Parts: sequence; structure tokens; C-alpha cells
Amino acid sequence: MNYNVDDKGYYGEFGGAFIPEMLYPNVENLRQQYLKIMAEPSFKEEFDQLLKDYVGRPSPLYFAKRLSQEYNTKIYLKREDLNHTGAHKVNNTIGQILMAKRLGKSRIIAETGAGQHGVATATVCALMGMECIVYMGEIDIARQAPNVARMKMLGAEVRPALSGSKTLKDATNEAIRDWINNPVDTHYIIGSAIGPHPYPDMVTRFQSVISEEIKWQLKEKEGKENPDYVIACVGGGSNAAGTYYHFLHEEEVGIIAVEAAGKGVDSGESAATSVLGKMGIIHGCKTLLMQTADGQITEPYSISAGLDYPGVGPMHAHLYKTGRAEFIPVTDDQAMQAGMVLSKLEGIIPAIESSHAFAVLDTKKFKPEDVVVINLSGRGDKDLNTYIEYFKL
Ligand SMILES: *Cc1c(COP(=O)(O)O)cnc(C)c1O
Repeated sequence: MNYNVDDKGYYGEFGGAFIPEMLYPNVENLRQQYLKIMAEPSFKEEFDQLLKDYVGRPSPLYFAKRLSQEYNTKIYLKREDLNHTGAHKVNNTIGQILMAKRLGKSRIIAETGAGQHGVATATVCALMGMECIVYMGEIDIARQAPNVARMKMLGAEVRPALSGSKTLKDATNEAIRDWINNPVDTHYIIGSAIGPHPYPDMVTRFQSVISEEIKWQLKEKEGKENPDYVIACVGGGSNAAGTYYHFLHEEEVGIIAVEAAGKGVDSGESAATSVLGKMGIIHGCKTLLMQTADGQITEPYSISAGLDYPGVGPMHAHLYKTGRAEFIPVTDDQAMQAGMVLSKLEGIIPAIESSHAFAVLDTKKFKPEDVVVINLSGRGDKDLNTYIEYFKL
């Protein structure tokens, strides 16, 4: 079984590039160039240097002693929360801005929901002195004021999406419209392992530095490269794809994907896409997505803004369909409690997205000798208000 993208841009039956004809030249150019560019020594050198000196990589692989005692198994945390800007997203935006430069682009557009990807994009545009326009739903602009302020400080223009539900999918539509109107000078930085081929594969490769590091770090600490389990939360699926990448074909490594169940899988307020989703097309790819009987995308819900997405990337749809990964839905309440446990036992306040991954420790029993690596995708500073309201702190 192959879990990587095939030469037609598919993961099993999922993936492809379902785009308006006017975008075809852009996406096709990217498809023809991306692997060649990524393989250039000068590209690799610049990417690695920035990951090291600007992002602060390698991120530590930390043995969580007290958490391990509590759950009677060996738990390691991959500390993506310690990256510059506080999460894994910057690994991808660094890669894509270098890609944009190699493709001769001078203008960057992006879509953002909660604003995390917008901030990561605005950050690298400031770093490279590139024009940056971030589309964001009008409602999200109102509820994510600190991230809007960050983007402005970083020199980006935040353009409101005023149509539809005025949230992420509408921002995505606006970004695509912009790209159609500016095909020559503009690169569209997609923020997760989604979008038309080659985006899911390109984003996965940029994020795969996570599992590349886990391998040598685990070798140093445990004398072996492969853990028994890797666990990550899945919104669109970029931190998870990066965490799994070098283990996809290592059969002894169990892969666990955690989805946001919101108020419960059957509550009508959920983002557990793999369980609730059906095959459909979103953001230019064929994948599992939550939709009405006649195929309109339904609004997802999760307490965590980063998991509040109606689809999953095509790689994850394939991992679900083939059974290679075990998908576990985690509710708001379970995630919030798990975030509190990690804070109390390890002195680490996680992003609520990451808290979902930790909640697996309460629902699945691991053996004492199991080595379990959990990707701590981001830090909790941005979520403090949600923690305060939830726990009445
Ligand atoms: C955005 C985000 C996620 C979800 O996005 P993926 O593409 O699924 O990784 C998870 N954790 C954090 C901290 C985020 O900011």
C-alpha cells in the first residue's frame, strides 16, 4: 500500500486538482516545478538555515516524565509549540515563501480562519519583504482581533470576506478569486495539507521535518528510530501529515489521528470530518467533507479554532479509508481537561488544538513499555481567553 501521493496527484481515491480553468496554468506550473525546486541544494540550504536560525529548529523531543507516570506509558512530546510564532505552521510558510521567490512571484495571498496561518504568512512576508494580502471572514476578523493586529504590525493587509457565512470558506473563495485575477505575479500560500495537487504533498513535505527530527531524536534517547505510536490532531491535517510522514510505511508504528468532535459526534456541532464526512470537493481537492444531502458544505464546530474545518486533507482521507491510521474523535470537554492535565503535570500550556491530541491518553490504554510520541502542535497563549472562560479562572 502506498500512502504518499501518486504521480497523478491522488492518495488512493482522494486528491486531484479540481480548479477553475483560469487557475490551471498557475497550479500546473507549480506542479511541474515544486519537486525540482525543493531538491535544489541552494533551496535546501536556505530552508534549513531559516528553520534553524529563524524558527529555532530542531524543536526538542521532550520526555514527559510526570505525564508518563500518570498514564503508565512512555510519552514524548514533540515541541512545535516552541517554534517562532508558536506553532508548526511557520515550517510551511517558510517553505512556500522560498518556493514563491524561486517561481519569480512578488505578491503573496493567503486565507485564514482564526488568523494563525495569516500570522505565519505575514511573518515570512515581512522576513522576505514581500507584499502580503490575507483574506479573512468578517466574523473571524471581529472575533480574532489580536491576530488581526499582529498581521497589521507585520505589514500585511487584511481583507474581509463579506459573503456567505463570513468565515474561513468564504475567505478561501476570495483568495481563489484574487489568484484568478492576478495569475502572473502572485503565489497563494495555502495553510494546511489541503488544496489542489500539488499543495497537499508540498505542505506535507515542508512539515515532514517534524518526523525527520523525531527519528534521530528518538534514536538518541531510546536507541531506536520508530516509536510505537505517533499522535497528532487533525484540522486540515498539516501538523499530522508532518508527524506521520516518515512513519507512514513503517508498519510497526501505530498512527493516531485526533479529530475535534465539538459537543459530540452526533450533536450536530462537530468537526469530526472523517466519521461524518462524505466524498466531495473542497478547496480544489476530492476528499472527505461534511456536507448536506445535496452537497453544500456544512459549518463545522469546535472550541478550537484551528480544528474548526469542514474537511480533511486527502492524505488523511486515504489513511482513514485504508485503516492505516486510527481516527479518534475528542470532544471540547475532553480536550479542555487534557489541556489542564498537561499544564499541571508538565508546566506546558498547550494550544487547544494540541489538547485534543493529549485527550487520547484518557480514552486509549497504552502498554507501560510503549513509546508514544505526541505532537504538541502549538502553545496555548492564543487560547488563554477560552481557557479562562471555560474553567472560570
Ligand atoms: C492551525 C493549527 C492546527 C490545525 O491545522 P493542521 O493543518 O491540521 O495542522 C493544529 N494546531 C495548531 C496549534 C494550529 O495552529
